[in-house]
Amino acid sequence: MVRELVLVCQGCGGKVWDDVGYLWVDTAQVARVGQAQREWDAEYGGGLVDIHDFLKYPEQVTWQAHHLACDPASDDGHYRLAARRLRTQADFLGWTAHLMGKNWLDCTDWNDLLQEACQGGKRIALVSS
Ligand SMILES: [Zn+2]
Repeated sequence: MVRELVLVCQGCGGKVWDDVGYLWVDTAQVARVGQAQREWDAEYGGGLVDIHDFLKYPEQVTWQAHHLACDPASDDGHYRLAARRLRTQADFLGWTAHLMGKNWLDCTDWNDLLQEACQGGKRIALVSS
């Protein structure tokens, strides 16, 4: 089977070669950030924003990669994408299309993750063929 990418576990630093792991995002945190973004928009949106107010904009929630055994929060109901379904750049395209239907995607750093799927990064490594 073709593999272009492998997740890099943020617990142990190892690559998730066995696919017993996933990318995940904390859904409760996503809900909090979404709420905070709506509040920010209501207060500051729709016009020029000065730098102090701009810096108050809520930070995106970070997607994380872990082996199942290394996930510090594996008991919670987080949104997870199985490593075995994230082996190619086309897999990321497919997931991006799927996730664009979620109204919370902008609350996360999926955009950075896509960059990592193209170039490699701390959560995704490119596999040389
Ligand atoms: Zn690990």
